[in-house]
Amino acid sequence: MDGLPHEDTKSVCPLCAVGCSVRYDGDVDGARGWPDAPVNTNGELCPKGIGAFDVFDEEERLTRPLVRRAGDLEAVSWDIAYDRIEREFGRLIAEYDPDALAFLGAPHCTNEENYLFQKLARVLGTNNVDNRARLCHNSTVSAMEDRLGSGGMTNSLADLAEAEAFLIIGSNPADQQPVAFDSYIRSAVNDGAHLIHIDPRANATTRLADTHIAPRPGTDALVVALVVKTILDEGLFDEGFVEERTTGFEAFVAAVEELDFEALAERAAVDSHAVREAARTFGEAERAAVVAGTGIEEDGHSDTDTADALLNLLLLTGNIGKRGAGMNLFRGLTNEQGACDAGALPHRLPGHRSIEDAAARAQIGKEWGVEPPAEPGPTELELVRAFGNGVRGAFVLGENPAVTKLDSETVASGLDALDFLLVQDVTHTETTAHADVVLPASIWSEKSGTVTNLDRQVQRMHAMEAPPDAARRDFDILATLGDRLTDCEFDYDDPAAVFAELTAANPQYAGMSEEDLDSGSQRWPFPESATAGTDVLHRDTFVSGERRAPFTPVITGDCPVDADDDGLVLITGSRSGDIANTTMGGSVGTAEKTLAIHPTDADERGLIDDERVAVESACGSVETTVEISESVRPGTVFLHARAAEPLIGNDRTTVTITKHT
Ligand code: SF4
Repeated sequence: MDGLPHEDTKSVCPLCAVGCSVRYDGDVDGARGWPDAPVNTNGELCPKGIGAFDVFDEEERLTRPLVRRAGDLEAVSWDIAYDRIEREFGRLIAEYDPDALAFLGAPHCTNEENYLFQKLARVLGTNNVDNRARLCHNSTVSAMEDRLGSGGMTNSLADLAEAEAFLIIGSNPADQQPVAFDSYIRSAVNDGAHLIHIDPRANATTRLADTHIAPRPGTDALVVALVVKTILDEGLFDEGFVEERTTGFEAFVAAVEELDFEALAERAAVDSHAVREAARTFGEAERAAVVAGTGIEEDGHSDTDTADALLNLLLLTGNIGKRGAGMNLFRGLTNEQGACDAGALPHRLPGHRSIEDAAARAQIGKEWGVEPPAEPGPTELELVRAFGNGVRGAFVLGENPAVTKLDSETVASGLDALDFLLVQDVTHTETTAHADVVLPASIWSEKSGTVTNLDRQVQRMHAMEAPPDAARRDFDILATLGDRLTDCEFDYDDPAAVFAELTAANPQYAGMSEEDLDSGSQRWPFPESATAGTDVLHRDTFVSGERRAPFTPVITGDCPVDADDDGLVLITGSRSGDIANTTMGGSVGTAEKTLAIHPTDADERGLIDDERVAVESACGSVETTVEISESVRPGTVFLHARAAEPLIGNDRTTVTITKHT
């Protein structure tokens, strides 16, 4: 390949989970959409997507393998780097056991790369493999899997356009998934659908909303329970659906009847009238859809409270298993769904089958020649906490845990405490600074393979250019490592051979082929009778195999409220294209580094617009610039998710602000 991306080659935009098809346009030196694409059907791209070829400065690229010698990373040949990895991994497994290794994968890598990554870990004898997607949507996916049998988005983007009402919560798709929002939600709203936006901060999505409810942080589940109460009180629920497709209705109704609407509305600091109006809009619609994002992960009493409340709402109104409805999880990173489908999870095999499912392990074992271990591995955060203790060696693929996991000092000392750290990435990061071996990998436009977008569509990527100098494709590196470190079959000619194996290992992908994907996309689950896959899940039975799904208890206890004393609750968010220093790329723009604060809170602290301040939490501190705005509610501040990374721990984050001196 020559130095420029090929113009007649189709790939998939790497900058968010919507999955728009792209090609290189030499005339404008940027990305263009692909005509008749599966998602961006008119060939449109958002501004981030148009800049997809500019995510990296060529000067920053890693182009040679690096090995640490006498404290410094030195350029070496691939053979020397592979020899060192083989020696160190072998020593750690011999001295400890395979669970002394951790594999931190990357949601933005392709399905084939994620499949090879988890296969490598499991063939070596450990389920210590995880990826960031699980952290982003853990509670929602858990609630959906428990009650419906699948954590996948229940509907397709295309059929969302048929909704008469949307409830968007914990999500700002106008900024974060702009092509999906403009093509499918905005068009429906322009045709008369109602949009209810529940978010503590007014943002680009709010501008299209008919109703904006800005609850106190931590009370989303409570507000949804009030919507449910209104629908029950006013008889707006779907009796037929409740009768035929649900269980536990009577106990659920009894619990809802106990709720004191006005007292709870006061606790959530929301307008009762607006909540009742929103409930009527949703309850009276023939087709109503929930769109949820990462914002609901950090709300409620237990992890799944808000997701469970939303599922109650959908079951009550019969909005599951039909077009223009459902629980639509709007994921952020490009291949979050695919990384999980491919099994890069400590408790799930490819196809979301439990690692404790003996039949599934046996089937995979037949494919690989080695059966995966039966014990679920720890989560990514648990693995990072165990660095230097239970975990002695780590393989980090296209991630930067030194700044994205826990507080940076703890992670830095954990990374230093490892006996051996292998990092595969495209540029130096805070994590490569701790590495013993660094392997130079490829960016999205240099990759072939498949990715799976937020509405379960598998699409094919084609390489448009070659990796620079001695950098290699991630697929080639992982296959070579599998070959060198294990006795199993890792001899693949190309990503198509891995995809063929993935379709055998993952029943949801069974029947798909890379050749067929060239003419469009295929959506899982992929029954033999369908050419494009299943658009609406849970139609006649739930994916669980049951005809009925349960209502769950309504939780309205002591919700967390605004921070005490001088503290403010930190709210974070991002835009499409904001991903970590990875094999896909991305960065935070200057405008996105400002701290939005309500005028009242700014006055109390004597802050003015454009002033430099230090923002401090229990985990760390960042410097930023004040932006006084009524878009955030009093008692909260908003900071872009990547700028806020050093501040965020496991729990709700409160911050204090001091003037910069
Ligand atoms: Fe499409 Fe997302 Fe890329 Fe924008 S960033 S072009 S919405 S895939």
